[in-house]
Amino acid sequence: QAKQLGRNQYRLFDEELDRKFIRRMELERDLSRAVAEGELFVMYQPKWDAQTDRISGAEALMRWQHPVLGLISPGEFIPIAEETGLIVPMTRWMLKDVCLKRQAWQEQGIAPFRVSVNMSIRVFERGMLQEMVNEALSVSGLSPELLELEITETIAMHDLPDKAKQLQSLRKLGVTVSMDDFGTGYSSLGNLDELPIDVLKIDQSFVRQSAVHSKQAIISTIIAIAGHLNLEVVAEGVETSEQIEFLLSRGCAIMQGYYYGKPMEAAAMEKWIDDMAHGSQKLQEKKAHS
Ligand code: C2E
Ligand code: MG
Ligand code: MG
Ligand code: MG
Repeated sequence: QAKQLGRNQYRLFDEELDRKFIRRMELERDLSRAVAEGELFVMYQPKWDAQTDRISGAEALMRWQHPVLGLISPGEFIPIAEETGLIVPMTRWMLKDVCLKRQAWQEQGIAPFRVSVNMSIRVFERGMLQEMVNEALSVSGLSPELLELEITETIAMHDLPDKAKQLQSLRKLGVTVSMDDFGTGYSSLGNLDELPIDVLKIDQSFVRQSAVHSKQAIISTIIAIAGHLNLEVVAEGVETSEQIEFLLSRGCAIMQGYYYGKPMEAAAMEKWIDDMAHGSQKLQEKKAHS
């Protein structure tokens, strides 16, 4: 009896593995055509300065609308893109699309906030960062001051001096560099000072647990490090007014999270900015109700 059950469970396990494997193969095959077929698109999530009540930036996040399987999350397709190297052409497309949109906003007279693009380590490894950013800036006519690149700590794992050099030349142009998901990766502290960055983003796993005493200590420490190194600090994954109060009390004013806005398409982002600017009505209502 028990043996029988065990065997069935193994079969289920096998089938599950097969299904995952097949889906992964399908995604890998289809991803190579996604750019050319126009299946990728960008969502924007605002970063809000809760001290001055102004938009401080927006993060561009990639989405894939698969023709058969529907919307695929970046959590699923970005790792495949990284492993296959497809992330390089995808990032090239993304940079151009985002810079064009940001420049269009600029021409519409929308507030001069920076827009950030997540940068894969693969782009650095191929030494293509400078070329790709230059291309996007020149095609769009966007001022480098309006562009930000988000990198992660994995960048420091191998040949940090080379990565630092690539980043530094872009910073000289006026591009901003931020460290994403800070505190979750490798070598977080040891060589933070060797990386040419401007912003630290506190990972959402800390923010989510900011009612927990030990996590509060970590958040405060990150904010203090940012202060000592003269870096801006942004909190990710902000969902509640309690989190906002805590972060403000510890000196972090820039917030990104569902509380203010989920990632949205460009048109919705324009409306969001408009709504927030016209008296921050929605925010005030939200504050009153919470
Ligand atoms: P990330 O760069 O850390 O982006 C933040 C992620 O947190 C986004 O997920 C965003 O939707 C989510 N988020 C923001 N606020 C909240 C909140 O209040 N609560 C919760 N639960 N989640 C929140 P998304 O868009 O699914 O992206 C996941 C990750 O995929 C990104 O993490 C980034 O590492 C990667 N990714 C997305 N787009 C790109 C891209 O264009 N290039 C590269 N290389 N990676 C990308
Ligand atoms: Mg990011
Ligand atoms: Mg992040
Ligand atoms: Mg993340």
